[in-house]
Amino acid sequence: MKKNSVPSKSSLAKSFSVLPHQTQRLRDHFLLGKKLGQGQFGTTYLCTEKSTGKQFACKSIPKRKLLCKEDYEDVWREIQIMHHLSEHPNVVQIQGTYEDTVFVHLVMELCAGGELFDRIILKGNYSEKEAVKLIATIVGVVEACHSLGVMHRDLKPENFLFESQDEDAKMKATDFGLSAFYKPGQYCSDMVGSPYYVAPEVLCKHYGPEADVWSVGIILYILLSGVPPFWAETEAGIFRQILHGELDLVSEPWPSISESAKDLVKQMLERDPRKRISAHKVLCHPWIVDDTVAPDKPLDSAVLTRLKQFSEMNKLKKMARRVIAERLSEEEIGGLRELFKMIDTDNSGTITFEELKEGLKKVGSNLMEAEIKSLMEAADIDNNGTIDYGEFLAATLHLNKMEREDNLVAAFSYFDKDGSGYITLDELQQACKEFGLVDVHLDETIKEIDLDNDGRIDFAEFSAMMKKSDGGVGVGVGSSRTLRGNLNFNIADAFGGQDSS
Ligand code: ADP
Ligand code: MG
Repeated sequence: MKKNSVPSKSSLAKSFSVLPHQTQRLRDHFLLGKKLGQGQFGTTYLCTEKSTGKQFACKSIPKRKLLCKEDYEDVWREIQIMHHLSEHPNVVQIQGTYEDTVFVHLVMELCAGGELFDRIILKGNYSEKEAVKLIATIVGVVEACHSLGVMHRDLKPENFLFESQDEDAKMKATDFGLSAFYKPGQYCSDMVGSPYYVAPEVLCKHYGPEADVWSVGIILYILLSGVPPFWAETEAGIFRQILHGELDLVSEPWPSISESAKDLVKQMLERDPRKRISAHKVLCHPWIVDDTVAPDKPLDSAVLTRLKQFSEMNKLKKMARRVIAERLSEEEIGGLRELFKMIDTDNSGTITFEELKEGLKKVGSNLMEAEIKSLMEAADIDNNGTIDYGEFLAATLHLNKMEREDNLVAAFSYFDKDGSGYITLDELQQACKEFGLVDVHLDETIKEIDLDNDGRIDFAEFSAMMKKSDGGVGVGVGSSRTLRGNLNFNIADAFGGQDSS
């Protein structure tokens, strides 16, 4: 096969594997159990080792979802990085990898204690002193990553899980799917991450490991106040806030937060990465090391209520977007592959702006000039004037599918099990179960979406919610593992768009 050419699905399956070696068969050693969670690419299951009866988590990635060579390399990198970091007590340990013709399986340590925010919410109250422990753990992982030449690039509360339900359970970093190796002095230009947590220099496509410290700064801000510091109704608005918005450490509840905590937040959310505090220095900050600095008294209960709202809303949107993504049939993706081939007239595996514009015209696409322009900007990640297949897919899928009315209708009816025209709390709870989300309470979320206060969500309320910003979910529909298409597409609006936020 010609290098860089667009491979057909069948040739991909035959010629690529993720792992450089053959493996034993997963099912000879493990029994797969219930679904624990669903991510961008894979589904995570509970699994039991036959010889020992020990339980693990198994992330199974269907190879048909890996659409280009880059996707294969991304999974392989994720596995390597997990091995690289697996000595760390707060990084989920990888136990083994298995590959067959249909799946790649990552067997790892089971973290049955739930996500960071869920645990805080369930607990009902917490203090600055407890926030110190959580942040020290997270920054400890970041420091370890950086000292091993790895940037995490997707630090957010959803990617920290507790090993068990126990009071003193350890918290572990999971999901190194967006992580990358780096060399000191080298800069990255891939725009990856999740809306609320992404650093300003990432949006400017020139960054190093300091971007991770920013993301933890955002987590810290949310932990202490219940809301993200840079917030807007749309994704573009969030990005603009990240780039230019003022950091508010004055409004409620900040007057009752210690000065030392505020000092640390300021240093972590310093926009200039050269002046930003390093992970190592965070671990030496008085708020972290001096036992007498962070107060032990419970934070204002309003903080917790808001944290709960924020976290639930993100989960709900994440589910709804997944329903839409799953509706993308093979045929639709196949169609886009054909479109790409058609546009790529010299079969180089990349297309130029001119080729894209001509091609879209030829297929009678009714995209407006402005949309084509955003699409080009979106997909051209490295600014070299060409777009490759993976980038193209990510960008076009986002453009075509996400807000298309029939997809919203389909997602709505997925939740509206009894077809009553309303999504009720019961129906939401049922959907959570199907998605492997246990112990999630959505009553606060319903209140927020339910604009007319009748205790249920109608279609208008649902689509209003879906058209709002992403809520830190970092979802690119369907196929782009790196989500670059998604983030990139919207950055065009962030710099040039006009919205009211
Ligand atoms: P993706 O890269 O596709 O987002 P993740 O690695 O984040 O995949 O896993 C998807 C989901 O599976 C997580 O949100 C979580 O609910 C669940 N999960 C992942 N790893 C584990 C684990 N080690 N133990 C328990 N659940 C896990
Ligand atoms: Mg994840």
